[in-house]
Amino acid sequence: MPNHEERAHALLSASSAHRWMRCTPSARLEDEVEVEEGVAAKEGTVAHELCECKLRGLLGEDVEEATKKVKESEFYSPEMERFTQDYADYCYQSMIEENGDIRIEEALDLSAYVPEGFGTADCVIVGEELLHVIDFKYGRGVKVSPVENPQLMLYALGAFNLYSFMQDFKTVRLTIVQPRIDEEPSSWELSIEDLLAFGEEVKKKAEVAFKGEGEFCPEEDTCRFCKVKAVCRARAEKNLALMFLEEQDPRLLSNEELGDILTKCSGFPTWLSDVEECAKDKLLLGEEIKGWKIVEGRSTRVWTDEKEAFKYIVDSEEAKEEELFETVPLTLTKVEKLLGKKRFKPIAEKYVTKSKGKPTLTLESDERPAYNSVETMFNEEGEN
Ligand code: SF4
Repeated sequence: MPNHEERAHALLSASSAHRWMRCTPSARLEDEVEVEEGVAAKEGTVAHELCECKLRGLLGEDVEEATKKVKESEFYSPEMERFTQDYADYCYQSMIEENGDIRIEEALDLSAYVPEGFGTADCVIVGEELLHVIDFKYGRGVKVSPVENPQLMLYALGAFNLYSFMQDFKTVRLTIVQPRIDEEPSSWELSIEDLLAFGEEVKKKAEVAFKGEGEFCPEEDTCRFCKVKAVCRARAEKNLALMFLEEQDPRLLSNEELGDILTKCSGFPTWLSDVEECAKDKLLLGEEIKGWKIVEGRSTRVWTDEKEAFKYIVDSEEAKEEELFETVPLTLTKVEKLLGKKRFKPIAEKYVTKSKGKPTLTLESDERPAYNSVETMFNEEGEN
């Protein structure tokens, strides 16, 4: 079984296509910096390896050795078992329902669309008329949608080129399995014609991106996982330009201006925190950052030996043992994690109530309905 960690990466990787398609100079810039993989990425790699083991196991392959090796990783955790099993079950079930051939960790040549492009799809199911690409995401921060997802569409193009000589594909299904955020996998379908039209679009973008040309696109969802997000001049200029407001009369800002400022500055806190993190890392490495240094933060007190300390307190009758411990119920979230979403659901229906959330400021494009302060006021009055 291949080692996921040691795979080569293309300059224009499928997983970063959403970035280089919008910000075409980003790939060349990212190629100039070395960034150590974070814990979340390492966990993700191990979870993908476990996914592969579980799916191959369902297909009857001997995965004992490979599974043992995955579990030896410091980034393995028992909670991975449930999530990776969900993925394997979904792939296996799809293979049966679609009556297709399953390909696991399929190496795909993407060079017909992207210069020197290649990639590995987690799972591809090759049906007679349906081509199904399934991707596992272990992250729990940002929900990934399959709709117009360029990574999955690139994989679909690679798989189409590989298998279209023997199948008469009509439809492509793209599925994201992200069980730490969503219990149910989410899918999106498109026709082969639409997929091929995307292929033409991606070709043009990839050509520009491969040369490192084109316009920067410093938008928060484009920059979020960019390796140069903290030191990118285009992103800094965009954020800093917002700080200089033209002086206008009247001296107080209008509601329209307040809205404009909030919209324009919504990415500012994230950018500043990225810059701070980057400066901190550089100072810790011994580099100089003009005007800044690292100091020791607030320290916390911990027992050197809690068991011995408690024994001493009880033996010397400073306090009774029961006074030293408290029983605290698990939070609702922890109970849900303990039982799993499926088992927790009927319990939640019976015993959980959800209070109205606090009024929260957000962009108009947010899909949640607007807060109705009048309705809330009447409801609150009715309850009193
Ligand atoms: S930080 Fe944003 S603007 Fe800068 S290169 Fe990366 S994606 Fe482009």
